[in-house]
Amino acid sequence: MKVLVIGGGAREHALCRALSLDPDVTELFCAPGNAGIAQIARTHPVDPLDGTAVADLAVALGAEFVIVGPEAPLVAGVSDAVRGRGIPVFGPSGEAARLEGSKAFAKDVMAAAGVPTARSYLCTDAAEAAEALDAFGAPYVVKDDGLAAGKGVVVTADLQVALDHAASCDRVVIEEYLDGPEVSLFAVTDGVTVVPLQPAQDFKRAYDGDEGPNTGGMGAYSPLPWADPKLVDEVLETVLQPTVDELRRRGTPFSGLLYAGLAITARGVRVIEFNARFGDPETQVVLARLKTPLNGFLYAAATGCLADFPGLRWREGAAVTVVIAAEGYPESPRGGDPVTGLAEAEAEDGTAYVLHAGTRADADGTVLSAGGRVLSVTATGKDIPQARERAYAATARIGLKGSHHRGDIAAKL
Ligand code: AMP
Repeated sequence: MKVLVIGGGAREHALCRALSLDPDVTELFCAPGNAGIAQIARTHPVDPLDGTAVADLAVALGAEFVIVGPEAPLVAGVSDAVRGRGIPVFGPSGEAARLEGSKAFAKDVMAAAGVPTARSYLCTDAAEAAEALDAFGAPYVVKDDGLAAGKGVVVTADLQVALDHAASCDRVVIEEYLDGPEVSLFAVTDGVTVVPLQPAQDFKRAYDGDEGPNTGGMGAYSPLPWADPKLVDEVLETVLQPTVDELRRRGTPFSGLLYAGLAITARGVRVIEFNARFGDPETQVVLARLKTPLNGFLYAAATGCLADFPGLRWREGAAVTVVIAAEGYPESPRGGDPVTGLAEAEAEDGTAYVLHAGTRADADGTVLSAGGRVLSVTATGKDIPQARERAYAATARIGLKGSHHRGDIAAKL
């Protein structure tokens, strides 16, 4: 099968890597891709937000299957444009992707489906916001209603900071603070059947000890040795299946990847947010352990055949990924610096490898930084400590001027 992946981050590199290992995939394309993806797929420039351009490219390449990685193209309706040309797509329609694109829509779906989540108010002006903040008290949680690339959520003990963030957004969701460890659980669905993957944990803050600003994610590990073994079944029953059923009932079936961001609170599991696509960097560690060939699995979801798909198979052990970010990330990342040590970081036995995010190759093939998150160094091992040690050993071989990474990914279990 000829497969086209849309996107160009480490998530898409992880997807392309898994697809390139699937014997069903005869040709792999990625648009726009990055310098690492270009080593395993043919990359093409495209504006990922332009549905017509993406659909035209898919047709021109003879793609038989398109997988959309990031949220912004999904919310912009890129899946609909490609499906309109008769090509199966892994990724929800623009309507269904509102589950991620609008926090208020997600809250409405959860209320209708009886899914446990934080109590919340939708506020459209400063007076409403002030009232809601007062009702919940500190710590304050203020969420921009729309997509904001991981930067729309402010959690703060400072009332003025919370009020200022609310004032800077059009519409905000203000909600109760959820206390407890966070879990990311992905599920693949065709709109009816829901197949959960293995849980992961990511690290959102920029610096060690969960200090500093929120980022797109600085590292992840999977599985979660501390989690209740019944967690996945419980979330399937109380969160994932009811949400998929509710969206189908509304006439906007959700097919693709449903990502539940969860807090394990003293009062039970609560949804922090839904995403409509694979999470980055959790995908890097979840796919590192998935033994089932990826293409057939995602294609079954895209074509409504998940009920007949055999149970997933997983590798033993664990995976850890460490994100190397450019100087200045997340506020104002600098780009254009050479990245060294990429080959030296890879383990010959495949237990450590480097996934690219913001990179590009210059005319003579030198890899240069070209984004906030530059690399996602991923390793597997018999358990988390071994995977972690390998990931950090590989990270230490990479050179990028001014770059930073967290030293405490998967350190405390
Ligand atoms: P989101 O973009 O919704 O994932 O939010 C980003 C991060 O903000 C989450 O990963 C949490 O760490 C934090 N957060 C969001 N909502 C809440 C909440 N209700 N209570 C506590 N932390 C939250």
